[in-house]
Amino acid sequence: MEEKRRMINMITSKYNIFQVVKENIDLMEAIEYYGFQPIRKGRYYWLLCPFHSEKHPSFCINGNTFKCFGCGVHGDVINFVSLLFNLKPIDAVYRLVTDFGIDLPYAKKIDKIYCKAKQNYEDIKLYQAFITQRDRIYDYLCNIRDIYSRLKELITNPEDIQLDEFVETCHKQDLIEYWLDIILTGSIQEQYEVIKSVIKEVTNDGK
Ligand SMILES: [Zn+2]
Repeated sequence: MEEKRRMINMITSKYNIFQVVKENIDLMEAIEYYGFQPIRKGRYYWLLCPFHSEKHPSFCINGNTFKCFGCGVHGDVINFVSLLFNLKPIDAVYRLVTDFGIDLPYAKKIDKIYCKAKQNYEDIKLYQAFITQRDRIYDYLCNIRDIYSRLKELITNPEDIQLDEFVETCHKQDLIEYWLDIILTGSIQEQYEVIKSVIKEVTNDGK
């Protein structure tokens, strides 16, 4: 859930910057700014495609979208800059913001949103690393639980019940069930506490 929410936040933050840029910078304006001169033919503007070599213009500008009938590229102002300078869409956005000097308060806001989007991305990476680690611990606990179960099956003689090992096994098995339950249903914080306990237990066992 947490992960999904973060994902949505990140996408929303990005969406906002994309939206701001698209609303503030006209595709035609950008195309001209970067040195191209489209020619009007009928309803649309046409251009020798910057993305493939051709003799007759097949790059068509229709309002705020473009499509090349030669090589197939298409999109909006962000896609255009992204293709032109070989940039990731988010960096194309940043380039447009810089080149078109969207007024300062806006740019500052964009700066903030951009940083936040990056930050969230880092958070997601950290969170995923945590999940990977947690799943490893979970598998480890399942294995230990199976070993203990088999150990219990082996002890069939009632007299063996006095064995310290048997008592220890029963105790640990309960603890492991409890930990597995928390990993499956607990909050991130609770899961984290369990992971710490497991690691502590394992390290102590090694002594
Ligand atoms: Zn083309």
